[in-house]
Amino acid sequence: MAKPKIEEYARVIRSQNFDEIMMLADKLAGKRVKMVNATAVGGGVAEILTRVVPLYNQLGLKVKWEVIKGTGAFFAVTKNFHNALHGSKVEIGEKDFAVFNEATEANLAEMDFTGDDYVIVHDPQPAGLIAAKEKSQAKWAWRCHIDTAHPQADVWNFLRQLIVKYDASIFSTPWFARDLPHPQYFIYPAIDPLSEKNRNLSRHEIDTVLNKYQIDRNRPLVVQVSRFDRLKDPLGVIETYRLVKKQVDCQLVLAGGAAADDPEGVQVLNEVTEAAKGDPDIHILALPPFADLEVNALQRAATVVLQKSLREGFGLTVTEALWKGKPVVASAVGGITLQVIHNFTGLLVHSVEGAAYQIRYLIGNPQVAKKLGEYGREHVREKFLITRKLRNYLLLFIALDHPGQDIIKL
Ligand code: UDP
Repeated sequence: MAKPKIEEYARVIRSQNFDEIMMLADKLAGKRVKMVNATAVGGGVAEILTRVVPLYNQLGLKVKWEVIKGTGAFFAVTKNFHNALHGSKVEIGEKDFAVFNEATEANLAEMDFTGDDYVIVHDPQPAGLIAAKEKSQAKWAWRCHIDTAHPQADVWNFLRQLIVKYDASIFSTPWFARDLPHPQYFIYPAIDPLSEKNRNLSRHEIDTVLNKYQIDRNRPLVVQVSRFDRLKDPLGVIETYRLVKKQVDCQLVLAGGAAADDPEGVQVLNEVTEAAKGDPDIHILALPPFADLEVNALQRAATVVLQKSLREGFGLTVTEALWKGKPVVASAVGGITLQVIHNFTGLLVHSVEGAAYQIRYLIGNPQVAKKLGEYGREHVREKFLITRKLRNYLLLFIALDHPGQDIIKL
C-alpha cells in the first residue's frame, strides 16, 4: 500500500491542527534526525516509526531510522530489562549488564551520528549509544515507551546512568516520569488512521479474512490482538472467554505474532495453544509480521475488543480498536487508562471475572456498545492520531534547541 501524503490527513483532523503542523515543519526544514530502536518489525515502536518517518520526510525534515543489532543473548537480557522496568521481578546480574555493554560497543562501532541535528533513541536496548554524544553535534533524547512507574531498582539504576547523559527524556505519560536531571517531555503514542491496519474496510474484505480463519460471522466474537507475551495475559483471556461462554454463546480470537526482539513469544504461544485445545470456538492465530489487513479485519469484526494486559506502556491495540468504533473492555493498567475512560469510551476491568461480566453486558446491550465505540473514536481523533504526535515531536525538536527557555518565540 502506498504511503499516504501528508495532505490526506487534512480531511481526518481539524484544520487548525493541520495548519499548525505545517507551520512548525517550516521552521525545521532540512534538519537531520536519527531515530534508533531495536527492531524493524513487531510491537508498537516499530509500528509507529514505520508510519511517522516518511511523514517527517514529506514535511521537509531529513529523518533516518536505524535499527541496532544484537545476539540472542542480548535480546534475552533486554527482554528481562523490559519486564523489570514494567515492575516484574527479574533476576539480573553483572553478566547481563556485560552482555548489554558488549552489544552497545558493537553497535557504536558501526553507527555514525555525524551530521545529525537530533538523535531520538527508543527504549532501553539502544540506550547505551549515548556514548557517541560527545563526538556528535546533535541534541539527544531518550524515548521510553515502557510503563516505568515502578521499575526494578537494579535495572533502572543501570539504565539511569546512561539516560542522565541525554539532553531530555520522553515518556508516554506523566505517571512514568522518573527522577532525572534533564527536561522530561510527554508524548502519547498514536496510530495512523490511513494505514492498512486502520483504514476503512469493506464488508467483503472483512469477510474474506474471517473465512480464511474459519470464524463464524454470525455469532459474537471477542478479539484480543497482542504479541504472545505473559504481560498481555493470554491465559487470562482464555479464562475470561470461558466464563462468558458459560452464559452467552461466543467465539474468541487471540491473534498475535512475536516481535523479533522477543524470545519468549514461542513459549507463550505453546502454552496458549495447549490451554485452548479442544474448543473449536477459540482461534489462536499466530500472525506473520505485516499482517495489517488481518489485524484490521479481526478488530473490525469483533463484537467486543478485549485487552487483558497485566501491564501496558500504552496499548496501541486499544487505540486501534477505539478508532474503529469498537466497544473495548480493557485492564485498568498503564496507558490504557488514558484511552479507556470508564463508561464513556469503553469499560475498565481489574480481573478475569470483571472482564467476563463486562463482555457479557456489552454482548447483551448493543446500543451501549455502539455509543461507547462512537465516543471512543472521537477521543482517539482528538488525542491519539499520528498527526498529534508529529506536532509534538516538531515542538520537541524546537524545545531541544532552546534549553532552559520556558517561552520560545517562533
Ligand atoms: N500487532 C500486529 N500483529 C500482531 C500483534 C500485534 O500487527 O500479531 C500490532 C498491533 O496491532 C499494535 C502493535 O503491534 O499496532 C502492538 O502495540 P501495543 O502498544 O499494543 O503493544 P506492544 O507490542 O508494543 O507491547
